[in-house]
Amino acid sequence: MDGLIMDYQLTIPAILRRAASLYAEKEIVTQRPDKSLHRYQYADMVSRARRLALALRKLGLTDGDRVGTLAWNHYQHLEAYFGIPCAGGVLHTLNLRLHEDDLAYIASHAEDRFVLVDETLWDLFEKFRDRVAWNKVIWIPTRGGAAPEGTIDYEELLASVDESDFEEPDLDERQAAAMCYTSGTTGRPKGVLYSHRAMALHSLGTCLSDSLAVSESDTVLPVVPMFHANAWGLPYAAALVGSKQVFPGPHLDPSSLLDLLASERVTLTAGVPTIWLGMLQILDEHPKRYDLSALRAMVVGGSAAPRAMIEGFWQRHGLRIVHAWGMTELCPLGTISTLPSKLRDAPPAEQFSRMAKQGPPVPFVEVRGRNEQGLIPWDGKTVGELEVRGVWVASAYYNRPDAQDSFTDDGWFRTGDIVAIEPDGCVHLQDRAKDVIKSGGEWISSVALENALMGHPAVAEAAVIPVAHPKWDERPLAVVVLKDGQSASADELIEHLRPHFAKWWLPDTVEFVEQIPKTSAGKFLKTALREQFRDYFTGGTGS
Ligand code: ADP
Repeated sequence: MDGLIMDYQLTIPAILRRAASLYAEKEIVTQRPDKSLHRYQYADMVSRARRLALALRKLGLTDGDRVGTLAWNHYQHLEAYFGIPCAGGVLHTLNLRLHEDDLAYIASHAEDRFVLVDETLWDLFEKFRDRVAWNKVIWIPTRGGAAPEGTIDYEELLASVDESDFEEPDLDERQAAAMCYTSGTTGRPKGVLYSHRAMALHSLGTCLSDSLAVSESDTVLPVVPMFHANAWGLPYAAALVGSKQVFPGPHLDPSSLLDLLASERVTLTAGVPTIWLGMLQILDEHPKRYDLSALRAMVVGGSAAPRAMIEGFWQRHGLRIVHAWGMTELCPLGTISTLPSKLRDAPPAEQFSRMAKQGPPVPFVEVRGRNEQGLIPWDGKTVGELEVRGVWVASAYYNRPDAQDSFTDDGWFRTGDIVAIEPDGCVHLQDRAKDVIKSGGEWISSVALENALMGHPAVAEAAVIPVAHPKWDERPLAVVVLKDGQSASADELIEHLRPHFAKWWLPDTVEFVEQIPKTSAGKFLKTALREQFRDYFTGGTGS
């Protein structure tokens, strides 16, 4: 017997409708390329997003057409986040930090028909423009320049239609609303196609109080780019509950971000650890320069948040890091490490250890781990590959039948992450399967060593990589960037690790570098380091 409940469709237009009727006056702020601030209200955003939807239909967009965006975090990108799905199209955010060959591959593989290009990224676009069969190119004048030959000016496009002509599209919640390619840290980029339903539920999941607790009283600044896993879904969640939104534009350096966090009284922000490591250094040097008293949480994910960083922000600056684990394939939120009530009165050391783990899964996401022996017990010790399933987890990659081995026969997604799971479901990520160091038949966690190294006061960044070794198969090599004006020797850093690890876990040596190469998402690019130090133990130094 079926229940007698309305078949209400969970869609992006439903989020926009709510924002329009309840939060019309709430503010959206964007930092322009020249650092001046653009301000408008949700009512303006809704009107412009609807006009974009109308205009795209007039240009010939039909249901399911992919519309690329090549843009920083700003209000026009937010309009595209809503306008494209409201037109029945699929928002396809292109990662501007990728090489032009990858961008050409991704846009062609997705068969993008339209593309919106940020004026400040025009030079990048020109490098692959001719390699993709675009139907229409739309120029977003973020600096106020004139649209180049053969493109459509975004502002003129919006002005060409009348909002009163907008009709709510009749969308099925299972239709695709957006797509995003994995940034290719491991292998060729693969496309994930998000449904309206998944994104609507993900927005709701993000707002739960044991999750990111996004609310009307928040001012949300996503540092995580809108071209990376939908800025972790924050623009949609914020619109659903009516938070003020602040976009940093192209200014993602730590000191510009600190200025904006302080001046706009931001309460919730989110990004990868490398951003926060940089901010922590500045705050340590200038503890009184920024008033961050409004900031209630800084969400850190994308790679492991080092415990020393979580501790440093809290103990020295009273700032709370919320550690989350996610993947492009999960919209992206998977687990979140908020402190459970049983640890509320625990000693700080225990609390920080817990917060440095990835946390239990959010509602409607389930986790399990598997190794050669089968499913792993939740004992916090046995390790295996993390598998997930849930309401916003990808069921396949777009047009990649060859990648079907990422899914188990019983319908779980294989994450490629190696984890232990604690009895209360808290996931503790040890490594990516590709980064784990296999020494003498045993595994060494690069993440654990990196986090401990980043706990040394002289260390700014540390990556530990497996390097081929004639006797042990692989051995760990630590690659370290020291903080400005600080010094530490390789021996000193290894002694710093010694009390915490088995002897055979200790890196054989430490290489000091000026900087660690980063991926397009700002994570350590370990493949480049592995290439650089490939022959370290077997031949030349490779460095
Ligand atoms: P990419 O494969 O391009 O890095 P994603 O951005 O989807 O694409 O990254 C997902 C991966 O990032 C996860 O599989 C995991 O290895 C890593 N990751 C994400 N969050 C965390 C975290 N909190 N701790 C450790 N690793 C994380």
